[in-house]
Amino acid sequence: MSRQLLTTDVVIIGAGIAGLWLHHRLNDLGFHALLLENGEIGRGQTLSSQGIIHGGSKYALNGILSKAAQVISSMPNRWKTCLQGQGEIDLSGVKKLTEHQLLWSRDRLSSKMVSFFASKALRSRMQPVKKENRPAIFADKAFRGALYQLDEPVLDVVSLLDELVKPWQKRMLAVSREAEYQWQPSTSPVSSLLIGEQYEIKAQHFVLTAGEGNEKLLQGLSQPQPEMQRRPLQMVLCKSKQLDKPLPVIYAHSLGSGSKPIATISSHKDKQGNVVWYIGGNIAEEGVNKSHTQLVAEARALLADILPWVALPELEWATHAVNRAEPKQSSLTRPDSAFISSYDNLHVCWPTKLALAPDLADQMLAALESADLKAGDHHNPDYPQPSMAEPLWDRAFS
Ligand SMILES: Cc1cc2nc3c(=O)[nH]c(=O)nc-3n(C[C@H](O)[C@H](O)[C@H](O)COP(=O)(O)OP(=O)(O)OC[C@H]3O[C@@H](n4cnc5c(N)ncnc54)[C@H](O)[C@@H]3O)c2cc1C
Repeated sequence: MSRQLLTTDVVIIGAGIAGLWLHHRLNDLGFHALLLENGEIGRGQTLSSQGIIHGGSKYALNGILSKAAQVISSMPNRWKTCLQGQGEIDLSGVKKLTEHQLLWSRDRLSSKMVSFFASKALRSRMQPVKKENRPAIFADKAFRGALYQLDEPVLDVVSLLDELVKPWQKRMLAVSREAEYQWQPSTSPVSSLLIGEQYEIKAQHFVLTAGEGNEKLLQGLSQPQPEMQRRPLQMVLCKSKQLDKPLPVIYAHSLGSGSKPIATISSHKDKQGNVVWYIGGNIAEEGVNKSHTQLVAEARALLADILPWVALPELEWATHAVNRAEPKQSSLTRPDSAFISSYDNLHVCWPTKLALAPDLADQMLAALESADLKAGDHHNPDYPQPSMAEPLWDRAFS
């Protein structure tokens, strides 16, 4: 049986936030971009994310405004424009879980920290929340610490993916998880990609946005290539055992004495409408090799410590292990910005943050423009489309 020949201007491999954003933009601009997915849409890191559109304040907690904090600082406004239907992608249908992420410290902040937060560089990104404006959970008299409001919305990632997929769904192709990929030729410039015995795809450019999957895709190429690093996390989830006594809704970083949040809690509704707390931050970084039982015990103790005034209902717990896939850095540190490495017409991408997907697409569009990408005429048959992954809140507890 001969392979089915498909043609396109740009092949994008991997339907997480990076591939979906770029796919949407290229097709909107009049190019033909074909997005391949060999699992389910969003099932990689994207549907494991907390949906925080970081503005970088979290990276400034050590009192230093790093390069990472500066690069990412324009992202909240960029996303807000799209959420208002006025940006390069219309995201007016995306559910915003909250306009502002909060940051609290159970203890009063040191005067050094208070003046840093009030400094010119940070003032526009974080504001102390006045007592009368505190959300219910922090309005309790027993809470005596510091509370700041960050200029960082939190999005419902499921609705974000829906909005990105809808307009150009017909230009997405589901491929089998088992199919072997073969580059033709095996060094760039590449002219086509063979997928199992099923497809041959010819394109002007090939973009790898497969997250952790980029590593395997690169193994088929005999040429220099970027190295990938995995930074693992073990996240914790909990929800009330009683639907009529749900957890309160909270989107906040808990600040201790260190430079990283002790915990970052976001709230999501499962399909029964029960509130699920999704807990990341230091507890998830340090929880990587811990057993479920140990990590849950630590999370219980942590919540009692950072929210001592909150009477929690009886809880059901889950843990979720997941890797962040990124370009390799010295000493497993976090990369500063979205990453692209181009080899002729082959481009390897890691956004490094969901919030940086627009930046990654900008960089990629600039690279394609300078390579003189042309809009061709492509008439492909209807092909199988990938399905959407189930939200984490509905699968983590089973
Ligand atoms: C626990 C956690 C919480 C996070 N929270 C946040 C947050 O709040 N805010 C933020 O900005 N960032 C956050 N991040 C980071 C963010 O989630 C990632 O940077 C981003 O989702 C990466 O997107 P991606 O599209 O590169 O990869 P992925 O989402 O991993 O997508 C890759 C896709 O490629 C597919 N694929 C793999 N191999 C192939 C192949 N051979 N062929 C076809 N398809 C393939 C996979 O199935 C997958 O769908 C978080 C990350 C984690 C792990």
